[in-house]
Amino acid sequence: MLEAERKQGQFPQLEMSHLLYGGKEYFDKFLERQNFFDNHPMFKVNHDFYNKSRQDQILLNAERTIEAFKTIQLADPNYYTPNVLCPQGIFISTVHFAMVIPAFQVLASDEQISKWMTLLKNLNAFGCYAQTELGHGSDVQNLQTVAVFDKQTSEFVIHTPNIEATKFWPGELGLYCEFALVFAQLQVDGKGYGVHPFWIRIRDKETHKPLSGIEIGDIGPKMGYSVKDNGFMSFDHFRAPLDSLLNRYIKVSRDGKVERQGNPKVGYGSMMYMRNILCDQYTKFGGRALTIAIRYSLYRKQFKDDNKQEIRILDYQCQQQKLFPLLAEFYACVFGSVKIKELVNDNFNRISQQNDFSLLGLTHAVLSGAKANYTYFVANCAEWCRLSCGGHGFAHYSGLPVIFFEMSPNITLEGENTILNLQLARYLLKQLQHIVSKPNAVPEFFKFLSQETVKVDDVTSLDNLIALLGLNCAILTKYAAQKLMSHSDMKESWDTKSGIALAKAASTFIPYFNMLCFLDTINNKAKDTKTILTVLARIYGISMLLNNMQGLLLKNQLNSQQIKTLQDTRESLYPIIRLNALSLVEAQGLSDNSLQSLIAPKEGDVYMNMYNFASKENSLNKQQVHNGISYIQKMREVNAKL
Ligand SMILES: Cc1cc2nc3c(=O)[nH]c(=O)nc-3n(C[C@H](O)[C@H](O)[C@H](O)COP(=O)(O)OP(=O)(O)OC[C@H]3O[C@@H](n4cnc5c(N)ncnc54)[C@H](O)[C@@H]3O)c2cc1C
Repeated sequence: MLEAERKQGQFPQLEMSHLLYGGKEYFDKFLERQNFFDNHPMFKVNHDFYNKSRQDQILLNAERTIEAFKTIQLADPNYYTPNVLCPQGIFISTVHFAMVIPAFQVLASDEQISKWMTLLKNLNAFGCYAQTELGHGSDVQNLQTVAVFDKQTSEFVIHTPNIEATKFWPGELGLYCEFALVFAQLQVDGKGYGVHPFWIRIRDKETHKPLSGIEIGDIGPKMGYSVKDNGFMSFDHFRAPLDSLLNRYIKVSRDGKVERQGNPKVGYGSMMYMRNILCDQYTKFGGRALTIAIRYSLYRKQFKDDNKQEIRILDYQCQQQKLFPLLAEFYACVFGSVKIKELVNDNFNRISQQNDFSLLGLTHAVLSGAKANYTYFVANCAEWCRLSCGGHGFAHYSGLPVIFFEMSPNITLEGENTILNLQLARYLLKQLQHIVSKPNAVPEFFKFLSQETVKVDDVTSLDNLIALLGLNCAILTKYAAQKLMSHSDMKESWDTKSGIALAKAASTFIPYFNMLCFLDTINNKAKDTKTILTVLARIYGISMLLNNMQGLLLKNQLNSQQIKTLQDTRESLYPIIRLNALSLVEAQGLSDNSLQSLIAPKEGDVYMNMYNFASKENSLNKQQVHNGISYIQKMREVNAKL
């Protein structure tokens, strides 16, 4: 049924696939992995998964993790695809590989790395990242777990002084891991040295029971994330050896001398690693949701035209308005994430090879903003895709709810998005100051902040859209700076008077950044690819302006006629995307099995799929007369007495 639609695509799909995956090598690797998952019985589409208890889901996920391990090196960040291919739950050890090992690599000394790294990599030392507590998450400096140095024994006494200090949320803590990277306030001789990481065995090697002095458990069911054993943990004067403190940047000697060394800023490195994965890999879930919604919108027909033919819902302009700006945003975020990966790698190389920290601030700021922007995009995209599929979008068999459930926590974890936007805002303000005081110190990327106005003839051209997005961010940043400085107490002003303006200003930076990356990707491409990408980039740029133009309005940089032109132009571009929509989502190369959606196969009868699932696979129907029927009689009896 969709073959005719496929033929309408006006660009070479394979070239697009390579662009979406960052090159042929990565796309081929993705296909190879997908093929493995498609042909393995353990990973066959199984919508009855959602009828299972959490216990059973956790066990199935464990079995799947073993099978995935047989072919996939989970520790290799460049090929971090298994979770993307099996969206029903994040595999066991994801936290270990994506958070614990990178943290170890940057925070442990060379001796500690040589002692532990092999054990870590082959999972003989399986750990979780235990930072967050019941009472404090974002505010890491105020964590309350303490590690008090005992001079008599040269040990650290790890203790949870109150309920608030209970470690809460670490993934893989609840059931599985044997070690934990515990973040605690270091105290030596009554003096506090701030929060530091301690690598501690928490469960017995033989029995797997929590060691004496440690209480551990799973925190309970969540919104999605059902297979992940996010846990809690408290310590009762638990004794950890001297070398449990990861001591690349701080050392405590046997007799209690504390020595700081190196540049502790490098500690940001481990967070960057995971944030980069969230941008690079997890943004792909937006494309997965769009594939489902766009395919389904081609299968689904509602109401008839003048010729008594039913209309595909993708032909309705309102449906296009729901999906096409998101499709454009997906492409923008993917191209942005490719650039971010380059930036992160460049920063790592400079630090590790030349002790050069010059890119650290910039990388941290851009990555913070991108993590916030892209994770918001994916959750928003999944929700709109669900809404665009009507009733069927609500069912697990559509493959859409799982994307929303599994992706929305990314807004909160690894740096809560508002906090991250505020960190980017701090960097923007610093660059704004430098524009006046040290213009040469401002990275090329942030020179746009000096703009007061831009002259545009056609507001909808790519160059002008970029200029307007930059100007919008510059105006909002200056507005936030003025707001911040209009109060004498800067800290109070930041927290209670100008937070909205600061977060807003920062949130307008990434659309500008994404457009620069989009333009970079479009340049030098073959004509047909360039044409369709330019259409997408214009839709993205226009949508971002229409959604966030407060800065331009504040300074009268956009008038009502120009706003109307923006709206009209975006609508005029939809018919081009309509022809290419299927090819644009199919360039991701997702197989039916990987997509796990009964409403959006490559070819097929979606209604038969849904009917077959409900009537043949839904385990709730296995028993013809369900046990719950006895309650109907009881209800009748109760009702009769009313
Ligand atoms: C699925 C999942 C997995 C997780 N895995 C782990 C893990 O493996 N290890 C681990 O240690 N932790 C983990 N966490 C915890 C996670 O890191 C924290 O939830 C996160 O850092 C946010 O902290 P919080 O919950 O304390 O939120 P809070 O910081 O309390 O935020 C609540 C609200 O207050 C706002 N807010 C707070 N401070 C400010 C401020 N200064 N300015 C403006 N607004 C503010 C926030 O924007 C937000 O809207 C996980 C969480 C989830 C949901």
